[in-house]
Amino acid sequence: MTTIEANLQHVRARIAAACDRAGRDVNAVTLLAVSKTFDVDAVLEAVQAGQKAFGENYIQEGVEKVLALEDMVRSAGHDAGVEWHCIGPVQSNKTRLVAAHFQWVQSVDRIKIAQRLSDQRPENLPPLQVCLQVNIDGGNNKSGASPNEVFELAEAVHAMPRLSLRGLMSIPEPAPDFEGQRNLFLRTKVLFDSLNDRGYGLDTLSMGMSDDLEAAIAAGSTMVRVGRAVFGHRPRKN
Ligand SMILES: *Cc1c(COP(=O)(O)O)cnc(C)c1O
Repeated sequence: MTTIEANLQHVRARIAAACDRAGRDVNAVTLLAVSKTFDVDAVLEAVQAGQKAFGENYIQEGVEKVLALEDMVRSAGHDAGVEWHCIGPVQSNKTRLVAAHFQWVQSVDRIKIAQRLSDQRPENLPPLQVCLQVNIDGGNNKSGASPNEVFELAEAVHAMPRLSLRGLMSIPEPAPDFEGQRNLFLRTKVLFDSLNDRGYGLDTLSMGMSDDLEAAIAAGSTMVRVGRAVFGHRPRKN
């Protein structure tokens, strides 16, 4: 067994245990493997271990991997059915790349960016699946719409023809203990529920990473984004 395969098994077991403790169905939580800074060989290894959904922060780097993996899969003669999620900040000059190469974008926090993504989504592809990133605790220098802005943003995205609004994504500050972390995640869950009370039919609450996925699942997360616990420690970016 490769290291990545063993890591994936371990993370899946953590998710299952957390679901069990929370009285939730294990199938209610999707594992997104965050492959930023790792090369396409690592992604392929994860694909071969049954992983389907991958997250990338840096758009240029992500697109290179999307294309390289498509080539590898095509030359191996099968369709891996892999799904790519953009989870990093999207600047205006990168929306075209995101619209063309990703199935999901979880980091939409402005109407202007959403409009560009909708306008630029190629006609031959299904609508781009969208989560709104919310800055739930007002953390400094962080991306995300404020909880107040989210309602207007949701209404705008909901109306865009080439976007499909699926849910919320958040990255709260680290808390000192499990209960504190769970309470921070619960704030996003409350916001998620109040959007659904308005009829948006959201099904994706993306929260929880390598160090705090248990607390996120206890608070109702439906998608955990896990990097280091799957791929190992990231080489420093310079
Ligand atoms: C890097 C990153 C992750 C994964 O973090 P780990 O601590 O490596 O699990 C998840 N979400 C976002 C938005 C990230 O940038």
